[in-house]
Amino acid sequence: MTEKEDFLKNEKVRIGKLYSTKKHGKGFSNKDEFVKWFENTIKAQDFKCYYCDTSIFDICSLINQDELKTRKIGYGTRGPNLEVDRKINSNGYTKENCVLSCYYCNNDKSYILDSEVYKKYFGKNRKKYFEYLKNKK
Ligand SMILES: [Zn+2]
Repeated sequence: MTEKEDFLKNEKVRIGKLYSTKKHGKGFSNKDEFVKWFENTIKAQDFKCYYCDTSIFDICSLINQDELKTRKIGYGTRGPNLEVDRKINSNGYTKENCVLSCYYCNNDKSYILDSEVYKKYFGKNRKKYFEYLKNKK
């Protein structure tokens, strides 16, 4: 199994557990549909964050090298995964409105910034910062 296949297998289990009818039911009729959307989207984005265009594998390496911090939360750790982000918060969780984002962009963007504005003005600079961390050693 390749690194990507192995990663995806674990991610599908993780994302399946996050499905809730109340939260995601509007755009995804069941857990399988949500997991399938995740799989298609992560492949379409080539395992990169929608905003900063950085590979989740590069992010995981930086975490393992202690160059990036993670955040412990109730159901796990934020940092080493791509997260489901709503481009327009009020439009809810639908296939058209969701992208996969790294924790660092998702957390920074929050609900304050328009997603395309964020991508344009902050995504590129975050990528530069990740590149700097990668090449630092
Ligand atoms: Zn990002």
